[in-house]
Amino acid sequence: MSQPTKKPAKHGFTTTILHGDRQASVEHGAVHKPIHTSTQYAFSDARELAAVFQGKAGYTYARQGTPTSDALEKKINKMEDGLASLSFATGMGALTALFTTLLRAGDHLLSSQFIFGNTNSLFGTLELLGIEITLVDPTDVQAVAAAIRPNTKMLFTETIANPGTQVADLEGLGRLCQEHRLVYLVDNTVTSPWLFQPKSVGASLVMNALSKHIGGHANALGGSLTDTGLFDWTTYTNILDIYKKGPSTGWAITQIKKKGLRDMGATLTADAAHRIAVGAETLALRLDKICSNALALAQFLAVHPGVQRVAYPGLTNHPQHARAARLFGGKFSMLVAVELIPSIDCLDFLNHLQVAILATHVGDTRTLALPAAYTIYHEMGPALRAKMGIVDGLIRLSVGIEDQADLLADFEQAFAACLHRK
Ligand SMILES: *Cc1c(COP(=O)(O)O)cnc(C)c1O
Repeated sequence: MSQPTKKPAKHGFTTTILHGDRQASVEHGAVHKPIHTSTQYAFSDARELAAVFQGKAGYTYARQGTPTSDALEKKINKMEDGLASLSFATGMGALTALFTTLLRAGDHLLSSQFIFGNTNSLFGTLELLGIEITLVDPTDVQAVAAAIRPNTKMLFTETIANPGTQVADLEGLGRLCQEHRLVYLVDNTVTSPWLFQPKSVGASLVMNALSKHIGGHANALGGSLTDTGLFDWTTYTNILDIYKKGPSTGWAITQIKKKGLRDMGATLTADAAHRIAVGAETLALRLDKICSNALALAQFLAVHPGVQRVAYPGLTNHPQHARAARLFGGKFSMLVAVELIPSIDCLDFLNHLQVAILATHVGDTRTLALPAAYTIYHEMGPALRAKMGIVDGLIRLSVGIEDQADLLADFEQAFAACLHRK
């Protein structure tokens, strides 16, 4: 039995996610949007079929989305306070769709030099397609401004960089993009919309790897793009005429949907969309616990004799601590980067951890530890690693929701095992 539609009240972050599906028309009063497995959508009226193909809202073929992925996109869109959002099979699928549909050969992309390793290797492919890319230090707006060229179209940055934890000057970069009419693309994966809405600093487009905090349980891959509505696409030369229909705020997301999702096909499955939507219900709860565990672990490591250096924006000696405290509501994410003293081999140390898991991935409920230079940053070689600030002994931690005492005890016993063997 469907409930009468009530005018939706303006609710808080978690209430909005929890009750979002119910507020649309859900079959049988289900509180979750069902997992729609149908790949095709049939019409009883040929004119309606034609209308949906020509732009009317509706479903045709699941490569362009299903009611299940649509329900998730609506949630993401509310979390990011966006104009419209799209979902993809992975975060990388979202980034690939975006870069290849909004940039062309001869365009220049400015990107943070402190970025996720696979985004960096995707840039190699974009360069082969004729897109020029310059890597810049996103904490230094002057340096970024100096790298702008006449053909610069877009600026890309992460919020808190994975794995080095550098915090971009998100406000300064926003002003710079506005001044130079650059598309401002922010990868919000590490902070998630619970800690930070890039729209608040003028972002044009926001990417989230849903595989990380938003899904949150390491059981589904997904990515999203949100258009915040702040960029004036009438000034952007790469929008195809056929997508210049309706209000100009919708042009770019339509082009990304048609070219980047329909044609390229990195579509989120309905099953994954459902899992991510369920995970999203507890995003705020999980992330608050994760951030308090990460701060406690970083503080523990900072004074430990087995540690040479810890990078965590929540520590007062972090170079961008004040900025992080101001922008992210006093929370500093799951990412802790740690270097041990030279006499401890980081691989030996990792082998002694019992609670923390040796695994790639971030934003899980479990604490994960990874020797970054030996793994995800291996392929890029020592010179690029140096530029990205990845030293050989760097351990990337993605802190989880374990009981805090268990987590600290795990690291303590691993240090004890390594130090006592000397
Ligand atoms: C994981 C990650 C991505 C890519 O997301 P996938 O869903 O794994 O493809 C992009 N950016 C950042 C910062 C990430 O951590």
